[in-house]
Amino acid sequence: MGYAEVSVNSPIAQRRTFSYTIPSNLTVDVGQAVWIPFGEKLLQGIVLELSDYPSVEETREIAGIIDPHPVLSLPQIKLTRWISEHYLSPLFEAVALMLPPGFERKALTFICSSPTSREIDMPSLTQGQREVLELVYRQGKVSLRQLEKALGKKKAQTIASQLVGLGLAARSYESEPVKVKPKKVPYLNLAVEADVARQQAARLHEKRASKQAALLDFLVQQTEPIPLSKVRQSVGTSASIVKAVVDKGLVEVQHIEIKRDPLAYQSLTPSYPLTLTATQRSALDSIKSSLLKAPSDNASPSVFLLHGVTGSGKTEVYLQALAEVGKQGKRGIVLVPEIALTPQTIERFASRFPHKVAVLHSKLSLGEQYDEWHRIRNGECDVVIGSRSAIFAPQPNLGLIVIDEEHEWTYKQDTSPRYHARDVAIKLAKLTGAVVILGSATPGVEIFYHAQRGDYQLLQLPERVTPSEGSSLPQVEVIDLREELKAGNRSLFSRSLSQAMTKSLASGGQVILFLNRRGAATFIQCRRCGFVLRCKRCEVTLTYHWAEDMLLCHQCNYRMPVPRVCPQCLSPRIKFLGSGTQKLEQEASHYFPQARLLRWDSDVTRGKHSHQEILDKFRAHKADILVGTQMVAKGLDLPQVTLVGVISADIGLNLPDFRAGERIFQLLCQVAGRAGRGSLGGQVIIQTYSPEHYAIQAAAKYDYAAFYSKETNYRRQLRNPPFSRLACLTYSHTNDTICQREAERMKRLLTQEIDSRGIANLDLIGPAPAFIQRLRGRFRWQLILRGSEPSALLSELPIPQRWTVDIDPVGV
Ligand code: ADP
Ligand code: ZN
Ligand code: ZN
Repeated sequence: MGYAEVSVNSPIAQRRTFSYTIPSNLTVDVGQAVWIPFGEKLLQGIVLELSDYPSVEETREIAGIIDPHPVLSLPQIKLTRWISEHYLSPLFEAVALMLPPGFERKALTFICSSPTSREIDMPSLTQGQREVLELVYRQGKVSLRQLEKALGKKKAQTIASQLVGLGLAARSYESEPVKVKPKKVPYLNLAVEADVARQQAARLHEKRASKQAALLDFLVQQTEPIPLSKVRQSVGTSASIVKAVVDKGLVEVQHIEIKRDPLAYQSLTPSYPLTLTATQRSALDSIKSSLLKAPSDNASPSVFLLHGVTGSGKTEVYLQALAEVGKQGKRGIVLVPEIALTPQTIERFASRFPHKVAVLHSKLSLGEQYDEWHRIRNGECDVVIGSRSAIFAPQPNLGLIVIDEEHEWTYKQDTSPRYHARDVAIKLAKLTGAVVILGSATPGVEIFYHAQRGDYQLLQLPERVTPSEGSSLPQVEVIDLREELKAGNRSLFSRSLSQAMTKSLASGGQVILFLNRRGAATFIQCRRCGFVLRCKRCEVTLTYHWAEDMLLCHQCNYRMPVPRVCPQCLSPRIKFLGSGTQKLEQEASHYFPQARLLRWDSDVTRGKHSHQEILDKFRAHKADILVGTQMVAKGLDLPQVTLVGVISADIGLNLPDFRAGERIFQLLCQVAGRAGRGSLGGQVIIQTYSPEHYAIQAAAKYDYAAFYSKETNYRRQLRNPPFSRLACLTYSHTNDTICQREAERMKRLLTQEIDSRGIANLDLIGPAPAFIQRLRGRFRWQLILRGSEPSALLSELPIPQRWTVDIDPVGV
């Protein structure tokens, strides 16, 4: 007898699988979706393993098979286990990441005639039993729901159980109907031989039914079924005419499944590989040699870090690597940080591999997602491109995974399972033998650290492809806002920035003004000397809390009142900083009344295409100044932009997070990369109260090495990643006091565990209110574990309700 280890779609299943017996009448495969009895219910499960022995003594039987075709591949099964163990998430949540769209459904129970036919002793049955049994025998099967409607829930269930118990009937299960159906359209086809059709057409002509005749004549000329819509266009036929010939048995209507195509709105001209520059060629050669190597079982995956400034030709390298993978009969997955912001990138992939690209992202309708999933699983797509969840696409024969802008935070999922698509990709590559390319102009510190150590292969493209015509990297000027204040300028625009704007606009160029609103007005800075209040213990910026009128450390909960004068220079000009994009827009229109303004932030972009609309409008030069948040920094190619102004670099710099320096460096480099993409050249102005900050200094010179060396020094001193790993535990509750109490209780529990197990080098930081302390009406407190393997401790502890655990958090 065989057994199956099943991951069950139930919250109580947690990280476990459950053993089930495989009944002799079913063939069950690994990766298959099955119905299983679980408590009183019948639930969905995925078979993760087959075995000769059950893992518990008493097992129940698998009730039925949902889909004969396995929904998970073998590497995906291993991947689900890894995700569940590494991120401490319920196993089925990890499984669910890989299931086809619309998969999660309930079972419908049917009562059908018993397979073992027996003599039925009708008089011994009650009247109710007899009636139900007769119905079952008449129809073959009856849904329990139908019986419940007729007899009432209780009675229907009792009778059904009795009949099954007597061996007179059996239960069977089917999924509820799928909510997304494949899209089908009507096609017309001759139902008779062409000769017969011609004769009939002639006869219809005589009877003056010339439209029916014309339709027949048209169909006689076709070699295959033809869409009704096309027939209408060609012969102008109407529904009643179609009906007439169908009724005569001359024509048949077939409903043929068609694919919804999310790329259809783009008209694409095919593109061809470019002749590579010497540096691109050597990068591609290294990648190719890895692609050709046969993967061995325990080898570490081939991971490349392609470090190249914007415009250095990384995308062309991805495209040619993917073509190579295709030649070997394999396929690729490409991840981009946010698909709505990267229409140009998608276009480039789609035009290089026409009709072979699938696009996956959350703004597709369920129907579109369903179609794409099935196209991919059928092996129709050489390349799948999408945001982080596209890493779970059922791409058969995976050869290459590309992660563009690898450093972006959108690759981390912020609900359970809190996976990082980059880390999942590297794991998946290990399981499949695929090669990984991580591309970035500003690699994440942790990734670069691995590349330095030789865990990953570093490939560098230090220059833009076409350094002629002024498209080399633009000049960056850093403006000290303290000087502006001394000169009496209190506006958001420094003198240099307003001059540069005037000049740019006068010569017909476009301007981007960038303001990172996140964390606005929460930190305190001296406007005279630039001093920012920080926690003495943790070095992170103190955050102002309106409710208590206090400054708080979000790591260790240190508190202090807001000082009246600057602790450094004693100036009373100590201020809350930060203003939003709306205020910026107002001020820009005040100072530049002639310029046409356009604002781009998450308040303006809600619909499916609105990013695209804003972008198109700006590219068509229907606006002169674009005001926006992070969005303006992403991969846009806008040749008419001659000036980029960063209104305040300090906002990003002073987030209470050890990655603040890294983030602002990345952001500034990216924003600066927006300028000077065309022949007009470009200029970047960064305004700040901390011009001497290493991240700003390094960004102004595009000096990754300088930034990296300073940053890793700080991280080593404070023992932050990559020199440790973090786990962030968050408790949320509507009551702040309860939150704090629970967080303290957890701290005691963890301290005890750490002590009793004698674990060395595991720090416990906090508890403290989370940076976004109140979210949707709930307070949040957090604890941070820092050490070489914090999840090892946590995986062995039961984590109480209301706690969430984030392994390798990106923002703390
Ligand atoms: P990145 O992805 O690093 O930002 P891209 O691949 O987008 O760089 O290249 C920037 C520009 O240079 C694009 O317009 C691209 O078509 C062009 N380009 C890239 N490689 C070459 C090449 N080998 N020869 C000519 N043009 C190239
Ligand atoms: Zn000061
Ligand atoms: Zn602190």
